[in-house]
Amino acid sequence: MIGMVKASVLEGVGRLVTQDYPKPKMGDNTILMRMELCGVCGTDIHLYGGKMKIPFPVIPGHEFVGRVEELGGGADGLEVKGQPLSEGDLITVVPGTNAFCGTCYFCRFMPHKPTYCTNRRVMGVNMSSRDPPHLQGGWAEHIYVDASHWWVYKVPEGLPPEVAVLAEPMAVSTRALERAFEPGLPTFGDGYGPGRSVVVQGLGPIGLLVVATAKIAGAGKIIGIDMVGDRIEMAERLGADHIVDMRALGSTGERVAEVERLTNGLGADVVVECAGVPAAVPEGIAMTRRGGRFVEVGHYTDPGNVEVNPHVICMKDMDILGSWAYPPTQFDTALQILLRGIDTLPLEEIITHRFRVSEAEKAIDTVKSKKGIKMAITP
Ligand SMILES: [Zn+2]
Ligand SMILES: [Zn+2]
Repeated sequence: MIGMVKASVLEGVGRLVTQDYPKPKMGDNTILMRMELCGVCGTDIHLYGGKMKIPFPVIPGHEFVGRVEELGGGADGLEVKGQPLSEGDLITVVPGTNAFCGTCYFCRFMPHKPTYCTNRRVMGVNMSSRDPPHLQGGWAEHIYVDASHWWVYKVPEGLPPEVAVLAEPMAVSTRALERAFEPGLPTFGDGYGPGRSVVVQGLGPIGLLVVATAKIAGAGKIIGIDMVGDRIEMAERLGADHIVDMRALGSTGERVAEVERLTNGLGADVVVECAGVPAAVPEGIAMTRRGGRFVEVGHYTDPGNVEVNPHVICMKDMDILGSWAYPPTQFDTALQILLRGIDTLPLEEIITHRFRVSEAEKAIDTVKSKKGIKMAITP
């Protein structure tokens, strides 16, 4: 039996405190998870820094994996792939709701795009911890999940928590690459497919997982771009064939020329922008070949504007695609891709630092200092 539950709570911009909450009352279709690991993500840094409007107080953390501690009535039958749940099972949860309200324009007319719901709720992001059940974020010893609105996945056999915790960022990364998949006419040479060249701009966790996805999905040449030694080394181990090191190639012109050199003067079939730096966008467009695809996934917050030459987009006859989060089904893709890669890629080394729930502030500082690859919170 648990008594009080320790959580790291964001009370306001830049104000992170450790707080104890009572164990929530279990209702029908609810699950109480014992948290094992929860990733620290760029989104959390933006929440902390006040870059996103959220209903304080919020328990951050939307990338969590844990064990079933207690099941409310009926919850044992709510695993999305139909596997029965019992106490002790390792599970992960899609933090965003699926077509939640059922009444907004997007729920009615575009139910296949559930992330557009205007009333979408995301655990660890826009759910306040003020009122019971309180525990709706990952940086806590226990997490309360309403399995009637949030999709619960049993972690496949063979995936340890330190890899399963990557399901959420891997959902972002696999969807970003899937945005570039060709429309079904491979001979037209449009989009991503086996053997295609892929440039990944920015080798933080999302970029690194795009590299791993491209590797597992049979890309041809994979080219990573960054300036941080640890990230570059990890990208090479995850499947990058070439690195454009910004410390050596300091200008856009040099970097574009290097990508052209590596792609027979054509530019890459697909470029995925994961840096979230405005200047990376025109640079990535310049690296894309005529008829190629540029996917924007890095700018989920707004760091400002950049100049783009529309003539280049027109002349290249290229596609520019945005990728915003992922549908809940994407967790299945992510878990399967992680399972496919676990024997050959160092996925279990992506979490480089662990911090206790009460040390969340330290985790944020470590992310900001660009040390290591990815941080996680653990009880
Ligand atoms: Zn995240
Ligand atoms: Zn809706």
